[in-house]
Amino acid sequence: MKTIGNWVGGRAEPGDSGRSGPVHDPARGVQIAEVAFSSSAQVDAAVRSAAQASGPWSSSPLGRRADLLFRLRELVLTHRKDLAATVTTEHGKVLADAEGEVSRGLECVDFACGVPHLLKGSFSSEVATGVDVHTVLHPVGVVAGITPFNFPVMVPLWMLANAVACGNTFVLKPSEKDPSASLMLAELVQKAGFPDGTVNVVQGDAEAVDALLGHPDVDAVSFVGSTPVARHIYETGTRHGKRVQALGGAKNHMVVLPDADVDGAADAAISAGYGSAGERCMAISVVVAVGDVADHLVSAIAERIPQVVVGPGHEPASMMGPLITRQHRDRVRSYVEAAADEGARVVVDGSQGKAGDGFFLGCSLVDDVKPGMHVYDEEIFGPVLSVVRVSNFDEAVDLVNSNAYGNGVALFTRDGGAARRFEREVSVGMIGINVPIPVPVAFHSFGGWKASLFGDSAIYGPDGIRFYTRPKVVTSRWPDGHQSGVDLGFPTNG
Ligand code: NAD
Repeated sequence: MKTIGNWVGGRAEPGDSGRSGPVHDPARGVQIAEVAFSSSAQVDAAVRSAAQASGPWSSSPLGRRADLLFRLRELVLTHRKDLAATVTTEHGKVLADAEGEVSRGLECVDFACGVPHLLKGSFSSEVATGVDVHTVLHPVGVVAGITPFNFPVMVPLWMLANAVACGNTFVLKPSEKDPSASLMLAELVQKAGFPDGTVNVVQGDAEAVDALLGHPDVDAVSFVGSTPVARHIYETGTRHGKRVQALGGAKNHMVVLPDADVDGAADAAISAGYGSAGERCMAISVVVAVGDVADHLVSAIAERIPQVVVGPGHEPASMMGPLITRQHRDRVRSYVEAAADEGARVVVDGSQGKAGDGFFLGCSLVDDVKPGMHVYDEEIFGPVLSVVRVSNFDEAVDLVNSNAYGNGVALFTRDGGAARRFEREVSVGMIGINVPIPVPVAFHSFGGWKASLFGDSAIYGPDGIRFYTRPKVVTSRWPDGHQSGVDLGFPTNG
């Protein structure tokens, strides 16, 4: 069986720590490869390679960096179908969805190609007589990126593109569940002409992550994954003196007001709830039906569910693929099975999935859900839509704001005033108005609030540039006949 290893210093390296994990084809439910988990020593070798490359890369001319990023852009574009096919094979999402992930990742490379403009810094002339001030943006050094299983191409590109554009070197620890795409990206970086050691990949699990968090040569950590792990990464990384951004899980609500276009809202709920089998951090998992829209909306969603074709991601007719692992499928199923006992009403039960060995589930729709039920309180990360009924707008906003997570939220309405109030009153980082999955484009930044983000920086876009740089502020005066003299007072701007 194929063993998936590391990429260090511009070369593939077999993993040999003695520990490994299985990689599955979830559509067939069979193991297709083994991923070798890195030991602390292997992580150390990757970080040392990044640290050695860091000096020359940090002083490489901006035009050269932009040139290499443009080449990387072309290579990702050329290989987008291979990347997407690999994602479909190991993750299970349907091919069109995997191609969408690659293009959203590519957007981040497009953005980073503008690095000469992004790193311009700032200059203030004559802040005091004969004195100027300028700010320059320096790289932070070695950046570690730790990524989740659900976007094995896009999330690494969220980090990698800006990190290297800013003059940092990068060590990626991808998810052990679908690790192959990370090596394909590393090879494309190599082919583009980036110096050896600029981008490295270490496979592994918590041991490799903890080795990165404790490594003295890692300066910054970008993490995307579940909330408990995000909290651990943030606490441990900052305790070791590192700059950390840790994006966590989600429970995204979609509020539907009585004046909304119900057919449009039902289409959106289906697309955003069941796309990628609900394994998206921006998936809708709770539909909040306000007032008398509820019955009509629930029937409109229920009648669309049979149209969702569940099947292997490589088959063109499939609209929704399998879940990532058997354990995860069984966990998702358990929420639907328990919902009725908790007092909810299972309108459509997809929990039995389809026959065969793949990790498939059908779409489930659960009505009369309330806070306090497991199906509401926990992130399910599967094709289960809950419906919570509330009487009015204020109750809907209270519900959203009382939730522990604050990643994404959507409002469906025709009322601009209500939309404006909603935008101002919800405690959520990314808001869609009649848009169910408001993932910001790459020239804005992505980040939730509350338990969806630990740290003070969102990811990619302008926040990514800030996170991957440290400002130096230089105040200068040149000898120009200025009359000097001893003055023990605090400098003022006269
Ligand atoms: P996960 O937290 O289990 O794993 C993420 C990464 O952390 C992986 O690389 C994994 O190897 C590592 N890891 C796992 N357990 C660890 C531990 N105890 N100590 C150190 N490292 C550990 O997440 P996942 O299951 O791969 O991905 C799904 C989760 O990611 C969901 O909660 C989803 O909402 C979240 N997610 C969030 C965003 C966002 O932008 N906020 C985006 C995508 C996914």
